[in-house]
Amino acid sequence: MKKWDATKAKVKKQQADDLMDPYLNAIEYKDKSVCSKCRSIYHDKRWAEDKELYNLLMKDPEKVIFTVCPACRKIETKYMEGVVELKGDFLFEHKDEIINLIKNTVEKADYINPLEKIANINIDEKNKTIEIITADDKLAQRIGKNIEKAYKGNVEYHFSKEDRLTRVYWKR
Ligand SMILES: [Zn+2]
Repeated sequence: MKKWDATKAKVKKQQADDLMDPYLNAIEYKDKSVCSKCRSIYHDKRWAEDKELYNLLMKDPEKVIFTVCPACRKIETKYMEGVVELKGDFLFEHKDEIINLIKNTVEKADYINPLEKIANINIDEKNKTIEIITADDKLAQRIGKNIEKAYKGNVEYHFSKEDRLTRVYWKR
């Protein structure tokens, strides 16, 4: 695993937004396609969580077009856009609180855009590191921002154009 090294950090202000998401346009989804994994619905050219529409569609399940949304496909194929690495003694003293904050961030993001999902949270007790893998780079940035807002500490953002990967480091 990559070690925290603040001295080597190069912070770029460039955003990864303008880069094409290879998963987003890979498949042409039919309107009202339903993700069989997260139940998000493709409607009006965007993915959204819509319980009402879901229940409506499921009244006639034979007509429903089931598919897998881009976010769930990313998770399935272990494609990631964001890595958040948290480190430090303070982190582990407030571990549960901070993990709750991350989960709340994801829930909110999921409501706004169901394509923002967490693939995995790895907790390394020995090295006092928590690593969060996200399917979406903006979610990684948002987690970093929310943790900094709530707990101060040091946060750094690294954007890599080659592999479309955003890395967020937070230490306290
Ligand atoms: Zn999905």
